[in-house]
Amino acid sequence: MSRLSATLSRVKPSPTIAVTTKAQELKAAGRDVIGLGAGEPDFDTPEHIRAAGIRAIQEGKTRYTAVDGIPELKAAICAKFKRDNGLDYVPAQVSVGTGGKQILYNALMATLNPGDEVVIPAPYWVSYPDMVLLAGGEPVSAPAGIETGFRLTPEALEAAITPKTRWFIFNSPSNPTGAGYSRDELQGLTDVLMRHPHVWVMTDDMYEHLAYDDFEFCTPAQVEPALYGRTLTCNGVSKAYCMTGWRIGYAAGPQDLIAAMRKIQSQSTSNPCTISQWAAVEALNGSHDFIAANNAVFKRRRDLVVAMLNQIEGVECPTPNGAFYVYPSIAGLIGRTSAGGALIMDDEAFATALLEETGVAVVFGAAFGLSPNFRVSYATSDEALEDACTRIQRFCAGLR
Ligand code: GLU
Repeated sequence: MSRLSATLSRVKPSPTIAVTTKAQELKAAGRDVIGLGAGEPDFDTPEHIRAAGIRAIQEGKTRYTAVDGIPELKAAICAKFKRDNGLDYVPAQVSVGTGGKQILYNALMATLNPGDEVVIPAPYWVSYPDMVLLAGGEPVSAPAGIETGFRLTPEALEAAITPKTRWFIFNSPSNPTGAGYSRDELQGLTDVLMRHPHVWVMTDDMYEHLAYDDFEFCTPAQVEPALYGRTLTCNGVSKAYCMTGWRIGYAAGPQDLIAAMRKIQSQSTSNPCTISQWAAVEALNGSHDFIAANNAVFKRRRDLVVAMLNQIEGVECPTPNGAFYVYPSIAGLIGRTSAGGALIMDDEAFATALLEETGVAVVFGAAFGLSPNFRVSYATSDEALEDACTRIQRFCAGLR
């Protein structure tokens, strides 16, 4: 291998993608594998959105577009922010990228200098810290453990902020825990941020519409309007609209930041896929009826998985507010040995042995910065979930 950059040596490949790929490979090789690793809905993209994509191809909407999004999509995004979040943005404050990932990455690349810190509540989605590292910054974990319902407390946020803090990344409902912040809980955090005017807020609202029971989603700039001028509100169509492969994410924030993000995109990927942009216009402007139907299914699956995992001695699985993940603790199982002879010294050993011995693929907690836990994505059929949870129960019962 030729010499690699020093920056690249600071990061690791995405563990969520690694687990998903491993499960697919084992399946292709004929192994009986149930993949609970991938964080994507198993539902197809709704018909009216697919039709909009097909129409775009047939109408020849297949050429380059404006680097950070067509005017029609930016208008649909402004309307979405007004409708769902009560936030006023104009198209020049909006950026569209190839998935939420590119949006977050562009924003970090555009703003971080060496030594700049980014506060990230742990457990976190796997890519936040590595994106910060790629951009030359320093990720700073702030503990948000099971004892506080996987929610960051104002005290923990306050303790993590230093004069070098550039951003606070906020994700609710959360990947990997599904925990969502109520308005009051979020206000506790925004009150802290109001005392630190040098800290900007990057939200990841990707799971906004995937919320259950009576949970009411809210986003920082909505809860504390005084933060509007230093908040980048990020979202996308991947999860709620079942469009993971179409790769459309977006953000709204201060115009100069959006312009800086556009500069990076103009020198890297150019516009996100033209066809996907037209499909996203339909997603945001069209009927949202299917979301309630999908959520009823997700909620049923969540309840099934939480109940079955909590039946296991040594496992504690809180009930999340949203997304399609649960993040059980396996503190009670550490130090035991599996029927296959594997010592479960940590959550990575647990996930590896679970896959080897039962064919169930989950993502180990260390990847998300909080152990000992594992993440289950329940965006798969009820039958597969029941089968997988039965296998996990049997595996855990066999630990000595
Ligand atoms: N966000 C999803 C997950 O956590 C997709 C995979 C990824 O990009 O990390 O599994």
